[in-house]
Amino acid sequence: MKIVSDCHTHTVWSDGKQEGDALVRAAIEKGLKRVVITEHGPRHLKAGLRGERIDGWLRMVDGLSKQYAGQIEVLPGIEANLVSLDGVIDVPTDRLADFAVVGVGYHLSGRGMRFIDNLFFQIGRRISNKAAASRRMTDAMIAAIEKNAVSFVTHPGHHLALEYGRLAAAAARRGTALEISARRGHLVLALKM
Ligand SMILES: [Zn+2]
Ligand SMILES: [Zn+2]
Repeated sequence: MKIVSDCHTHTVWSDGKQEGDALVRAAIEKGLKRVVITEHGPRHLKAGLRGERIDGWLRMVDGLSKQYAGQIEVLPGIEANLVSLDGVIDVPTDRLADFAVVGVGYHLSGRGMRFIDNLFFQIGRRISNKAAASRRMTDAMIAAIEKNAVSFVTHPGHHLALEYGRLAAAAARRGTALEISARRGHLVLALKM
């Protein structure tokens, strides 16, 4: 399989290790035709891109896009956080158009919208019945892709196995891709009862 695009990357603006310029040059060296820079959404506690930083970051990506035009396509994206059990994501709808690619993922560092969401994300998810937690998280992710124009789900199965068949069927209906991540801890395949 020839990989032509990388649609999920982070720079030092969130929790990546490289500046945007080094990342784009590495993508060119790999022979990619397109790289999407996807920092974390604003409610990621450790590394979320928020407030006025979003505008500065968009200017940085636009600068790279112009600088490397003809060599590689550089696009702005975002890895939004799932922040409620009913599918709210942390990118305001009036800002969605700023991003060519919108991923949505669940992160331990993502802060939920309401007390009840945080209660589940931080505690209930771990102490409740694993099958029930899995079903609830799957429902939340399906709601997120049905409510929002989401390009892909980032690392489904991060920390908790999901009901993959049900999620995949919903994603297919919506034309949403699922990222398959081999990174450690990012794809829990089955429930450990
Ligand atoms: Zn990411
Ligand atoms: Zn992530």
